[in-house]
Amino acid sequence: ASLENLDDAVPAPNRQQDRHEPGEPAPRQGFRNTSDSDPSLPANRAWGRAILERVPESRLGIDTIEAAEVKDAARLDQVLSTAVEHGKAWGALTGAERAEILHRAGDALAANRSRLMEVAAAEAGKTLDQSDPEVSEAIDFAHYYAELARGLDEMDGARFVPSRLTVVTPPWNFPIAIPAGSTLAALAAGSAVAIKPAKQAKRTGAVMVEALWEAGVPREVLQLVQLGERELGRELVADPRVDRVVLTGGYETAELFRSFRPDLPLLAETSGKNAIIVTPSADFDLAAKDVVYSAFGHAGQKCSAASLVILVGSVATSRRFRNQLVDAVTSLKVGYPQDAATQMGPVIEPANGKLLDGLTNLGEGETWLLKPEPLDDSGKLWSPGVRTGVRRGSHYHLTEFFGPILGVMTADTLEEALAIQNEVDYGLTAGLHSLDREELDYWLEHVQAGNLYVNRHITGAIVQRQPFGGWKKSSVGAGSKAGGPNYLAGLGEWEPAPSRA
Ligand code: GLU
Repeated sequence: ASLENLDDAVPAPNRQQDRHEPGEPAPRQGFRNTSDSDPSLPANRAWGRAILERVPESRLGIDTIEAAEVKDAARLDQVLSTAVEHGKAWGALTGAERAEILHRAGDALAANRSRLMEVAAAEAGKTLDQSDPEVSEAIDFAHYYAELARGLDEMDGARFVPSRLTVVTPPWNFPIAIPAGSTLAALAAGSAVAIKPAKQAKRTGAVMVEALWEAGVPREVLQLVQLGERELGRELVADPRVDRVVLTGGYETAELFRSFRPDLPLLAETSGKNAIIVTPSADFDLAAKDVVYSAFGHAGQKCSAASLVILVGSVATSRRFRNQLVDAVTSLKVGYPQDAATQMGPVIEPANGKLLDGLTNLGEGETWLLKPEPLDDSGKLWSPGVRTGVRRGSHYHLTEFFGPILGVMTADTLEEALAIQNEVDYGLTAGLHSLDREELDYWLEHVQAGNLYVNRHITGAIVQRQPFGGWKKSSVGAGSKAGGPNYLAGLGEWEPAPSRA
């Protein structure tokens, strides 16, 4: 790749099988996950540095797509009628026809990898090691849902009737993969889409949408709406032409949407309060590395992040694992994504409210193993925090903070650790580090969460291999797992149809 012309640059392929040029169709036979760019290749390090050189020092360099802004209700009304009108033809295509366009969308996302990573760094503070897998996930969603769309044609005696209009309201923490995945799923199902990117990541959302338009998704069918005001958001969600809303965000947002429209069909992935258990049989080196990555990757701003580590038995009573953990956290390089050495970036906005509380205040019996400190006057850059002595049933135990804080809890037995892990209202991800088969079986039988990880970090679910979705208050509405075989079914209805002759 010529670095003078970054727009054409793509990372060097990692393995022979991944070699296909941007714009060329990806392999069609069955689905295969896309590889992330391998940073150990010198060409990819140069490519990464070239991306970072284009990221402006501050957010001021970020332009917004003014043309796409919806500033008044009349314009919103028109956007929604256009989507519904043109959505009819889109829904009337066969799944196989839509699949062709979706595969092209996957290729277009791959061709825009550099640009997507650049804007995600600028807007959302994403380091390249975090945004590169996000682009891969977005590409995976395109090819995976394309194949599912094909499957919609194959049912005898039943016909899939898609939503007419799906509203997609993604979060800022995964500004590439989540908007892409939700949008591509709805399009694959045959629905028109109105997507409203999170305000903190609207440029990234727009670049993603533009890639889909480039690939041949009609602009009328995929509408990008940048709504400033809360009232317009309410009007969007409550509009009777909207059949479904796909939301990824806080549990409170799901409740707010429901308050706008109680009968609203909602597919919502919501909050999490996730823990990793470490038992005495664990590989401590691996456990420390996985806990640190799960807790502090993207500064802890993932629904899937580890907010608690629960130490069992001798792991709790000896200092060994705690020391190892503290050493690993202390060695994290905190900074802005423009610096290629940064391992943990800033939080999305100056810390306030609940997050600031979590970064500064301790509950009864708690002490800081590592006290989070502001590293400049932006309010966004914090050193990672580790608190110990977190009590069962305490505020920290049960509350999601969404930032670079990890709490250490202890338990005498695995049974007790599981009770602590399950006691939260949420059930999104959960981890166990153990090399004991019996412990593993016992845990798998009793843990209450959607995504379970053994001897692995608990973030970064892989499309098809680890369909993503939660239990309890981590999921609201008729949610099936994203990146899993039943996801499209939640975006329409099956109805009886005469068998084909
Ligand atoms: N799918 C992401 C993961 O597995 C989490 C998405 C989210 O934070 O909402 O890490």
